[in-house]
Amino acid sequence: MARHLITSALPYINGIKHLGNMVGSMLPADVYARYLRRRGHEVLFVCATDEHGTPAELAAQEAGLPVAEFCARAHGAQRAVYERFGLSFDHFGRSSSPQNRETTQEIARELQRNGFIEERAVRQVYSNADGRFLPDRYIVGTCPHCGYDKARGDQCENCTRVLDPTDLLEPRSAISGSSDLEVRETRHLFLLQSKLTEEVEGWVAAHGDDWPVLASSIARKWLTEGLQDRSITRDLEWGVPVPADVWPELAAEGKVFYVWFDAPIEYIGATREWADAAPAGQPRDWTSWWYDVDETVRYTEFMAKDNVPFHTVMFPATLLGSRRPWKKVDYVKAFNWLTYYGGKFSTSQKRGVFTDVALELLPADYWRYFLMAHAPESDDSSFTWDLFASVVNKDLADTLGNFVNRVLSFSRKRFGDDVPGGHPAGEPEQRLGEQVAGLLAEYEAQLDALNFRKAAQALRALWSAGNAYLDEKAPWLQVKTDPDAAALTLRTAMNLIQLYAVVSEPFIPTAAAAMRAAFALPGDAPAATLDWVGPERARALDLVPAGTAFTVPPVLFAKITDEDLAAWTERFGGAAA
Ligand SMILES: [Zn+2]
Repeated sequence: MARHLITSALPYINGIKHLGNMVGSMLPADVYARYLRRRGHEVLFVCATDEHGTPAELAAQEAGLPVAEFCARAHGAQRAVYERFGLSFDHFGRSSSPQNRETTQEIARELQRNGFIEERAVRQVYSNADGRFLPDRYIVGTCPHCGYDKARGDQCENCTRVLDPTDLLEPRSAISGSSDLEVRETRHLFLLQSKLTEEVEGWVAAHGDDWPVLASSIARKWLTEGLQDRSITRDLEWGVPVPADVWPELAAEGKVFYVWFDAPIEYIGATREWADAAPAGQPRDWTSWWYDVDETVRYTEFMAKDNVPFHTVMFPATLLGSRRPWKKVDYVKAFNWLTYYGGKFSTSQKRGVFTDVALELLPADYWRYFLMAHAPESDDSSFTWDLFASVVNKDLADTLGNFVNRVLSFSRKRFGDDVPGGHPAGEPEQRLGEQVAGLLAEYEAQLDALNFRKAAQALRALWSAGNAYLDEKAPWLQVKTDPDAAALTLRTAMNLIQLYAVVSEPFIPTAAAAMRAAFALPGDAPAATLDWVGPERARALDLVPAGTAFTVPPVLFAKITDEDLAAWTERFGGAAA
């Protein structure tokens, strides 16, 4: 048993997220967390809303709410969707928490003490038309590296390079579109990342080989260009205040830390929130997950590729510069983009399917399975309604759902409400057992390696193996000539259903619970965990004994009809933009 710390990139507070956001961080992290728990490991899975920064301030203004109130409501709305999506966070926190404020300020003090922070006069872009300083991301222009003409002042989302607003060619205000911009002077804190480049390089060299190429190549590309000193404060109302004991003047001017400085620290902050929320008599130690635990905790981060530089270079630089033994990431699981008909899902342009709307159409399991089976791992992948419907209908409704329903219904009709006995297992069951053991080993190996598409393939192959066995044995014919043979077939098939309940749980937890509830097994029955290794896998078909009472659950997965498909394509738009 190992201790696994799992985080998924923090969703920004504004707006409900789309399916692309879900598959790029939170959902795979949840599948992995559920899998590790099933294997008997100790898991802490934390996430939070990323609440600071200008977009939150502007959205609150637009909604006519104080920003704290706006964020509290928006956090509640996101959390409700994630609960309905079955995301099994141990804690879903808020980067505006007192715990994160304290940790962020403490790390800033340590960085200052160690000579990695410097106060500098900076010239900042002021928009005369808008009558305000423009935060970096509200200046748009042409990327000097790749020529993309909608690059933001903080980052080019086309080539992922981090930018300074003054790098942009032909800059203009994203609010008004005005190019009447001027530069004025103010003072800000800078994190001297240039002094940490070698250390971060050494750290990436020691760990990056274990990461997927997508993550390690982005980190190395960044380091090749050398780390730039970065401003880590902003002139905003809403954020972690610069601590007055160290920087009294800046604190008096109301400077707050830049959202990208405090957001990753919220992984620690959320763990402190989790510890502070411990039930009476069950104390939780957040330091046992974060502090001086390099050898005992394995830390896996999930994120989309645009977040990789911050997680593999900037956040490690912050932690290294603190000179404290903070836990740093062991494995970075990064994702490409899920596209909508080959184009971008876009929160701001309301293009694609949003997580709350998705759940109005169908329960979470349909989306969870489809998204993970088509996760954008080695390349971008595209959502289309036709593909979604064909995967749901074939894999979930036909291969899994129909198997469960016809086995249990037929057995009840012929043999009553208990698992039938019949003949002892024979050669076909032996063969099936070997096949299942092989597929289980494959499934576990792919999940251990965080290859979600291949794990989903192995899961689907397990479901298919049941159908092939049933077709081969044809209990509806056997029952006419040898009822004991039919009973054996059905008993074996029911054992498969119980197996499916266990192995499918990380992907489709609701259907898994329904399958498991079909059998009146004691709560601690062996198949409750997935902790089978080696020869134990051979027992996978011997966990539901004859005589066990069962019920027939409602249909697990309804088919998507042509009418549904037509209506959804019409409603959400099918063609690429
Ligand atoms: Zn670019």
